[in-house]
This record gives sequence, C-alpha cells and structure tokens, in this order.
Amino acid sequence: MTETVKVAVRVRPFNSREINRNAKLIIEMSGNQTIIKDPENMKAEPRKFAFDYSYWSHDGFKERADGYNEPASSKYADQKKVFDDLGRGVLENAWKGYNCSLFAYGQTGSGKSYSIIGSPGNKGIVPLVGEELFRGLEEKRKSAAKDADFQVHLSMMEIYNEQVRDLLSSKAAVKGGLRVRQHPAKGFYVETLTSSPVNSFSHIEAKMNEGTTNRTIASTNMNATSSRAHTIVAMTFTQKEKNEAGQSMTKTSIINIVDLAGSERADSTGATGDRLKEGSAINKSLSTLGNCIKALADMAGGKKNVLVPFRDSVLTKLLNNALGGNSKTVMVAALSPADINYEETLSTLKFADRAKAIKTSAVINES
Ligand code: ADP
Ligand code: MG
Repeated sequence: MTETVKVAVRVRPFNSREINRNAKLIIEMSGNQTIIKDPENMKAEPRKFAFDYSYWSHDGFKERADGYNEPASSKYADQKKVFDDLGRGVLENAWKGYNCSLFAYGQTGSGKSYSIIGSPGNKGIVPLVGEELFRGLEEKRKSAAKDADFQVHLSMMEIYNEQVRDLLSSKAAVKGGLRVRQHPAKGFYVETLTSSPVNSFSHIEAKMNEGTTNRTIASTNMNATSSRAHTIVAMTFTQKEKNEAGQSMTKTSIINIVDLAGSERADSTGATGDRLKEGSAINKSLSTLGNCIKALADMAGGKKNVLVPFRDSVLTKLLNNALGGNSKTVMVAALSPADINYEETLSTLKFADRAKAIKTSAVINES
C-alpha cells in the first residue's frame, strides 16, 4: 500500500549555551502547526508548517511586547509520548512483517540522539522499541506452537567520509570500510556486516554499548567527531510459524533506525584541511539525501521523468528502501528553540516539509 512518510518535529529546551547568550524563543507550536519567526525581521509574517506530530518541550508560551515568545514552564519533552506515537506503530508494523525505517534529522545538538537513543535513565526510541519487542515476544512464545521460531538480529554501522564501518566488529577502526553491494530483489546492502543474534533487551543494550565503544575508538583513531557520522541501527525480526493449512511461513521485518550526521553546513564550522574533507564527504551524503528527497517530493507532486540520485552516496543507497521503496517510514526533525539557530532550524523545517510528501509502498515480507 502506498502511503506518505510520517513526519514529526521535536523542539528541545534551551541549552546552556543559548541561555548564556540570552537567546530568545522563535518557535511556537499550536495544534498541528509549527511557526517560526525570523529574528532579523520580526514584523514579517512568520513561516507556518504542518506535520503529523509536533513535540514541544515548554508548557505553552505567550508573545512578548518585542514579538518574541516567552516560554512558559519548561517541561521536558516526554520520551514515552514520542515512543507511544512513533515507536508503537513501528512495532505493530514489524509484527505484521513490514520493513520500517525511522530517521532523525537536524543540526548538531538539536536532539537527534536524545530522541533515537536517549540515555539509560531516559530511554529513546531504539531502547524502548527493543524493550517492547522482547516483551511482546515473551508473550507470544507462551501461546505459540512448539515449532514456532522467533529471531532478532542486530547490526550497527556508521557511515563516515563515505565509508561504512561495522560497529559490532572489533575491526571497526580498520581503514577502508565495507563494500556496499546491490541485491537484485532486496536492494543495497553492506557486505560482511555483523548481524548478531540477540535474545533479550539487555543483550541489545550490551551490543549497542559495544557499538558505541567501537565508534569512539574508530573516531579517535581518525581524529573525527561523531556529529559528522551517520549511525544506522538495524533489527531484523523473523517469525516462523505454521499457517492454518499447516504450512510453515516466515515473516521478516527489518527495522532501520538512523541517527543522521548534523545537518549544519560545513562552511559554518570554520573547517579546514581534514575537517573540510570530512565536511564535504558528509555534505555529499547529506546533500545527496536532500537531492533525493527533493526529487521524490517532486515525483509525489506529479512531476514526470524525475531521476532520484540514490546511487550518488552511500547513505542514500542504504536509505533507498526507507525513502522510496518497501518500507513504512517515519522521520523526526529535531529543532533548537532559539533565535541564534534560526537559519539551521528553518532549513530543517523545509527539509521536513518536503519529506512529508514522499511516498513509499511497503509490502508484507512473507514466504
Ligand atoms: P544531536 O544528537 O542532535 O547532536 P543530542 O541528542 O545529543 O543532539 O542533544 C543535545 C543535548 O540536548 C543533550 O544534552 C540532550 O540531553 C539535550 N536534549 C535534546 N533533546 C532534548 C529534549 N527533547 N528534552 C530534553 N533535553 C534534550
Ligand atoms: Mg547525536
């Protein structure tokens, strides 16, 4: 069935840097609208956007005499609410045998990792999905036939400078990176990527900690910053059961969760030398992502003969299904509330606005 990508926007509270610089609130959310004011031109009509979900980390606001908004009591945006809205749907679809993708976009420090991973005391979507998946599996195993079989496999990779690193391998730091290949039916995949069987949530947690450690080692060796890398966590969920006719059927779902590199432009970070090269490769993946999303949105708008440049970067090859293929897809756009990030926030909102037009057609993977 063809459907559009679901898009959520999430505004984080002010951070200490913004508070120290006396930054002002330029975002407001009301109903399904997200409104952004231009701090250079407060008299101008503010830009308005509408998304499937809007998350706000302040209990309301009021407009001040100078036109900025005054945040009311700062309420930390609720991880559980985001999971209930987005994560539960992902799980339901995974049980049915659909591929699911969820990705987070936004500038560095806007709350992508907070939403996707969170922290042990404040779990984000990946751990909450993992927890709930195993809770559901335990229930299911009680009632399922003896020969039914349920498996979950985890992989975790990083795309950095157009190279793929296997974060579940101790060789993650080895130079070179893994090859991306194309399967005639299933599409692009990473050759020899580790896929670890996991049989409990704590097992997932342990694997992800291992991945995070490997990433730190790899990035230290390369003198890299993690905000410049894209991280992809994939859970492959298979359910083998007999149908009513007694035939053995296998449903497979790949849940792809992507924490994208910071969307800020490289030229705004004063990068030189290696850092600049790093910036341009990131730009290649992220700007290709932008180009693909624009092309897909044009297509959805009825434009003919559009070429979507999926092949132009590693990231977009691996997101091919998530963006225009066999997947049910959700995007979270993470936003700063502050005037000092106006340009980046507006550009994130425009990106999210294009993404919501994109159509995918997921099918149940059953054989
Ligand atoms: P990114 O991954 O986009 O670079 P992070 O997720 O690391 O950004 O967030 C930056 C900081 O802001 C972190 O300290 C994080 O705890 C905090 N933060 C982000 N989003 C929220 C939120 N919705 N509520 C509370 N704190 C948040
Ligand atoms: Mg991050």
